Amino acid sequence: MKEIIQDLTFAELSALVAKEGEKAFRAGQLWHGLMQGRKISAITDLPNRFKESLLRRFEDEPVRIAETLTSADGTEKYLFELADGNLIEGVFMRYKYGNTQCVSTQVGCRMNCAFCASGLNGLIRDLSAGEILCEVLAVNALHGGTPDKRAVTNVVLMGSGEPLDNYDNVVRFLRNVTAEGGICISPRNISLSTCGIVPKMYALAEEGIPVNLTVSLHNADDAERARIMPVAKAYKIADILKACDRYFEKTGRRYIFEYSLIHGENADKAHAEKLIALLKGRPCHVNLIRLNEVKEKALAGADEKEAYRFLGMLEKGGLSATLRRRTGADIGGACGQLRASRLRGE
Ligand code: SAH
Repeated sequence: MKEIIQDLTFAELSALVAKEGEKAFRAGQLWHGLMQGRKISAITDLPNRFKESLLRRFEDEPVRIAETLTSADGTEKYLFELADGNLIEGVFMRYKYGNTQCVSTQVGCRMNCAFCASGLNGLIRDLSAGEILCEVLAVNALHGGTPDKRAVTNVVLMGSGEPLDNYDNVVRFLRNVTAEGGICISPRNISLSTCGIVPKMYALAEEGIPVNLTVSLHNADDAERARIMPVAKAYKIADILKACDRYFEKTGRRYIFEYSLIHGENADKAHAEKLIALLKGRPCHVNLIRLNEVKEKALAGADEKEAYRFLGMLEKGGLSATLRRRTGADIGGACGQLRASRLRGE
């Protein structure tokens, strides 16, 4: 594979332009074209010899939308093909306040959570910062957005992969997606979800990019959590909470816990009580979602009644919580489901 030009910051692009012997204003034209989601070959205001030189070194289209599925509720799911043929996926969700793009950060995942389709074949490779950015740029362009009038207003790092297991590339992505003059999405409109890699949570707090931090909790008890999330053997909930508090201290951002309701596993009264005892009084919010059932996994989602009962208990217990609607369940909305079905040859 060639290099990915979208990995570069504007300052790095400017240095490249100078090294190529081009005039300085070409950097602005190049950056602007790339941020519009254009291929290098399709940036019309650049001289051909310069583009040819760039194309010898860089991929023209690092991320291509290979397939789009549209849900009855307007959610769109994409299968993206990378330059080396690997497949990742992304979801575009329409809300009243704007449109959210869910991006993948790795091909596959090595966390192997019991309920998740992303880890079915382990980790294949990390995505580069530019590949993650290209997911956003491609979908923004698909919906007619430009950097000045964005179609993608919010980004969540909740697709395949564990963002904090690909730390340097993810932080570079965050810098470029929030950069002024680029697509410039505010850190407030970005959420990064982690299974709880504690040392990297502390590191993220120091980066000066105050994105919303979300932790996949799914159980308030370490031993039970480890049953469905192997990573819980390495990082205890008490330490995750300390890292969250540090994040809050540094950024002023309230943190969020994801809790996927699994029938017979974490969705009854005793589990609600344990969660309340753990989180009460903390500057946090709990996002409940009913598990999206994955073909290869034997776990069942809580039904609607059970989910509302759980939500009611949390609210009565003094927690801030919401039950998220399951968007795109008819198109394999959950992490890794589309890729898994294509890898099965469906
Ligand atoms: N690796 C990161 C981000 C990706 S997953 C993390 O663990 O947070 C985004 C969220 O979807 C996580 O909370 C994950 O636990 C949850 N999830 C994965 N598969 C799911 C499924 N089948 N149904 C419901 N939620 C799921």
